[in-house]
Amino acid sequence: MTKKIKGYAAVSADKPLGLYEFERREMRPYDIELDVLYCGVCHSDVHMARNEWGVSVYPIVPGHEIVGRVSRIGKYVSKFKVGDIAGVGCFVDSCRQCDACAVGLEQYCERGMVQTYNSVDPIDGMAIQGGYSQNEIVDENYVLHIPESIDPAKAAPLLCAGITTYSPLRHWKVGMGHKVGIVGIGGLGHMAVQYAKSFGAEVYMITTTPEKSTTAEKLGADGVIVATDKVDMEAHVGSFDFLLNTIPESHDLQPYLNLLKRDGTLIIVGALTQIEPGINGSKMAYKRLSIGTSLIGGIEETREMLDYSAKHNIVPEIELIKIEDINKAFDRIVDRDVRYRFVIDLKASFKS
Ligand SMILES: [Zn+2]
Ligand SMILES: [Zn+2]
Repeated sequence: MTKKIKGYAAVSADKPLGLYEFERREMRPYDIELDVLYCGVCHSDVHMARNEWGVSVYPIVPGHEIVGRVSRIGKYVSKFKVGDIAGVGCFVDSCRQCDACAVGLEQYCERGMVQTYNSVDPIDGMAIQGGYSQNEIVDENYVLHIPESIDPAKAAPLLCAGITTYSPLRHWKVGMGHKVGIVGIGGLGHMAVQYAKSFGAEVYMITTTPEKSTTAEKLGADGVIVATDKVDMEAHVGSFDFLLNTIPESHDLQPYLNLLKRDGTLIIVGALTQIEPGINGSKMAYKRLSIGTSLIGGIEETREMLDYSAKHNIVPEIELIKIEDINKAFDRIVDRDVRYRFVIDLKASFKS
């Protein structure tokens, strides 16, 4: 039997999120049910709730940084037991047959991963809703064990912000001997600084908010560059091997490309949209520069990231909120007024 649960949903692009009652699907043999404990608030949630990517189908219960306690398991479930602390990230299924799925890169599934919200269940056609809610039902193959040593509230943002930055730093083999810049110090950027440092690189935070330099030492950065300070930027021209750009909206890439030395690489993980203004090919060619992108990470790499984060004590800085404060949190994210990730305490929510 399915039961009615509470969540917070966007019902249109121009209305605040509000209380929404809905049902999850019936449990399938490989499903596990989680009582949601915590859910991180990703900038994508804001984009999607407000239809800023033009693909939103309402109502939408956002949330793809979910940590909960297993409350029920399907009859064939073998990887989890009731009581386990488990996490769900940005996708909840994929075709499991294509070349990408076969090598654990489900996020690049050729038939399209099934996203944690604003997507449709391939079996029953129901809208799939995210983690701003009391429970989740997900196939066990798309659920992660959360290492015991990580505070479950702080584990939540690892499932999007953590893996989105860990994966490209690993893929492009960032480490010892590299001068690395993290562009944009928000939920993603402050994780990237910590990973890049622990991989052995010399790491700079590149930010438009000078006040964020106060956290540089804590995050392990070797220096801070204020992107709006021309003299500061000029001093670093042609010196970086690698830039990870986490700025969540379209912006001029040229000032950042100027910081790269020959054969340097800039990877975009934030502004996954049309980039304006365009890029000057000649300026790139004369230094053989590369621009790339990266999208979250597969299940196996997410598992690796969680274990690595536990072992090296890499966690986000968070501010806990109740679901009733989500609209204020969205506004503060847009105003860049969060250090560095809001996490919803679902246990403390739905009480007013
Ligand atoms: Zn996200
Ligand atoms: Zn696939």
